[in-house]
Amino acid sequence: MDIISKIREAGIVGEGGAGFPTHVKVNCKAECVIANGAECEPLLRVDQQIMQYYPDRVVDGVVKLMEQTGAPRGVIALKDHYTEAIAALNKVIADKPGVELHIMKSTYPAGDEQQIVYSVMKRVVPTGGLPLDVGAVVSNVSTLTDISRAMEDKPVTDKYVTVGGAVNHPVTVQVPIGTSGEELIKAAGGLAVENCAFIIGGPCMGRVSQTADFPVTKTTGGLLAIPRTHPIFQKKSAELNLKMVQAVCCQCSMCTQMCPRNALGLHVEPHKAMRSVAAGLNLLGENFNGIFSCCDCGICTYYACNFGLKPSKVMQTLKQGLMGSGVKPRKEVYGTVDGGLELKKLPVSRMISRLGISEYDVAAPMQMDILPVNTVKIPLKMHIGAPSTPVVQKGQQVQKGQLIADIPEKALGAKIHASITGTVTDITADAIEIRG
Ligand code: SF4
Ligand code: SF4
Repeated sequence: MDIISKIREAGIVGEGGAGFPTHVKVNCKAECVIANGAECEPLLRVDQQIMQYYPDRVVDGVVKLMEQTGAPRGVIALKDHYTEAIAALNKVIADKPGVELHIMKSTYPAGDEQQIVYSVMKRVVPTGGLPLDVGAVVSNVSTLTDISRAMEDKPVTDKYVTVGGAVNHPVTVQVPIGTSGEELIKAAGGLAVENCAFIIGGPCMGRVSQTADFPVTKTTGGLLAIPRTHPIFQKKSAELNLKMVQAVCCQCSMCTQMCPRNALGLHVEPHKAMRSVAAGLNLLGENFNGIFSCCDCGICTYYACNFGLKPSKVMQTLKQGLMGSGVKPRKEVYGTVDGGLELKKLPVSRMISRLGISEYDVAAPMQMDILPVNTVKIPLKMHIGAPSTPVVQKGQQVQKGQLIADIPEKALGAKIHASITGTVTDITADAIEIRG
């Protein structure tokens, strides 16, 4: 079986992003394969520990993608304070021609696909385009370990997740896909304070959940418990208040000046979006296309705006509105990269301090054994594309690794496999439940 078929059979999706099916993404020719190990979000520790403990798998994944895409260059991009990971990777790449490390400062959002491509290749991915438009294929390091395992016919069944915030023992733990957030909290020694809500993902781009009864998916990288009284919870939960925007936004443009995508010359201008939305004026003019290049990093909201406004929310609302009206992004690069790009980069430590989460910026050591769980609820849509179609029946016995849901015919999607051995106890439109 060829590399693409093995990746497809294993059900691999991009673990660092929205879950684009990898067998489609890497079915191309490229100049450079970039392994994204920069772990964008503060407090999350998965990627650095994956590189530290599984350097062979990461490098093997890079080599397999170089082989698949014909790329002569493979680059593992990671941050300068990941010293153990750097040492481990250096040993493995010593006899791997064409594979190199790219060491970056600890800035936010260093792991953003656009930033990482520019940092490695000095090329800007156009708005509405893909890294492939400039010759790159970018893959998260966890995805690369999956690719390495897929070559041995091992499907995706487990996921590493950092569990942090207001828990007793922050940890990075490997769990079967479909494990509930409640099990993760237990694995971290339980909540350290009462009355917490949860952020699935990182503090900047993660989404808020009032309870922990959600399942771990192929793209879940973090779970943070946050007291409901914490400002970050309040800010993430607050609705968009247009009256506040009208009354308070002074058009200082700090949000635009600090926007990392604007610095790449992509016409991402949140201050104009704010005024445009508040006053009903079309201040964006022909530059509305730049809205599609907002990556929702949240720097404008959580760091730049001194008035507590939420420009990133406005940008996402506008983006969804445009897409809902059938407007598609035009593929284009506009201006030039800001000469002060390096100086504008925001140290992660400053972001942590501004978010008020310094007390949670602690180690979350990796627990190597898979967490034993009795029940999993595996969502049928953990990827971009159509939901997978169940191929098992209620009451059926399944083995870990067995195919339980397939890609619908002629659709974009990913295969799904049982993450524990047991009995299928429920099948709904959204998920398959298995009890061990
Ligand atoms: S949203 Fe905030 S940072 Fe942006 S222009 Fe308005 S006041 Fe300034
Ligand atoms: S969230 Fe704000 S800072 Fe980040 S890319 Fe979008 S507009 Fe720029």
